Amino acid sequence: MQTLSRPLVENFSALRPEIRELQGELVKWRRQLHQRPELGFQEEVTAKFICDRLTEWGIAYKSSVAKTGIVATIESTSESTSPPLPFSRSPVLAIRADMDALPVQELNEVPYRSVHEGKMHACGHDGHVAIALGTAKYLHEHRDQFAGTVKIIFQPAEEGPGGAQPMIDAGVLKNPDVDALVGLHLWNNLPLGTLGVRSGPMMAATEFFTCTIQGKGGHGAIPQQTVDAVVVGAQVVSALQTIVSRNIDPLKSAVVTVGEFRAGTAVNVIADSAYLSGTVRYFEPSYGELIPQRLEQVMAGVCAAHGASYELDYQKLYPPVVNDGAIADLVRSVALSVVETPVGVVPECQTMGGEDVSFFLQAVPGCYFFLGSANGEKGLDYPHHHPRFDFDETALGVGVETFVRVVEKFCAVSA
Ligand SMILES: [Zn+2]
Ligand SMILES: [Zn+2]
Repeated sequence: MQTLSRPLVENFSALRPEIRELQGELVKWRRQLHQRPELGFQEEVTAKFICDRLTEWGIAYKSSVAKTGIVATIESTSESTSPPLPFSRSPVLAIRADMDALPVQELNEVPYRSVHEGKMHACGHDGHVAIALGTAKYLHEHRDQFAGTVKIIFQPAEEGPGGAQPMIDAGVLKNPDVDALVGLHLWNNLPLGTLGVRSGPMMAATEFFTCTIQGKGGHGAIPQQTVDAVVVGAQVVSALQTIVSRNIDPLKSAVVTVGEFRAGTAVNVIADSAYLSGTVRYFEPSYGELIPQRLEQVMAGVCAAHGASYELDYQKLYPPVVNDGAIADLVRSVALSVVETPVGVVPECQTMGGEDVSFFLQAVPGCYFFLGSANGEKGLDYPHHHPRFDFDETALGVGVETFVRVVEKFCAVSA
């Protein structure tokens, strides 16, 4: 974790009284959601929880969008007399929150521990839903304090197979047309009281591959009659390391990780085949062609050298998360006002992790940012996806304050 001098967050003086008062409810909602985690496209209890709150508050919404997704729409009662350029009308801003959990068995001994065996909100999406609900409630109650429309998108299946593109296909960015989109991720790689905001590429493209190498098995003592799939596979794994070290610009970034290598059955048997799988990450769009091309060339070359054959399957899952410069500037200025100290706004927050918010950011300009949520003193600094992951819930109010200020700035009553 980055060491930063602790900003003035212990009492969060930047949080307005109404959002401080909301903090208790934010924690309650987050814990209720945490107890009942659901995997991608199965978020039915979660969706009902969201719909019940929206109905209770009188907020218009559409449910069952891309299976379990929800879009809430809050229209201001104010009109902007002079809408900010380039808009000829009051702007439409979307806020995106993902809803799904992970297939992880929770190890935390907390009263709000998951009651769903083998499932856990180990990435903080329970907090994202709570923050989005709190933002919706506040904005609905203060419809005269901004000018425009806010769409709150509750998105399923971020952890896979991806709910963003199905929601876009279902038309969530249309009618009224969304001008910009913001989203956040609670982030245990940053301490509570910080916000990570940057322009340009922020999270990496996420791609997967599987490969079966076909050799010729045989007796462990008679190798001359075989094509040893373990030897070929081992050379493939080694040779793949040269993609990053020899084909990628040293000033840019990429990852090629082989995560699985399965081959062989016995001590005295030469393996007939080997199975490899792995993931590829990068920011630079052109690497989306270069890396799979090199991967295949390396496999083909090594296999040919040994008389083996191979079958490669390459899947492009999510494109890179790329923030728009102008929207990132707006979020950065808001972040500065929320954390009240420049060291609290962290620009070096790129990660090779992936996020399907990237599909939204390809469709409309926007900014995805990190909300620092780690608190080592309370033991709340386990990494995301860890069975002991948990975050400092004080961050929930900071998230709502940040979203509300972004809305008030983007949809300013007097531009
Ligand atoms: Zn995750
Ligand atoms: Zn996540």
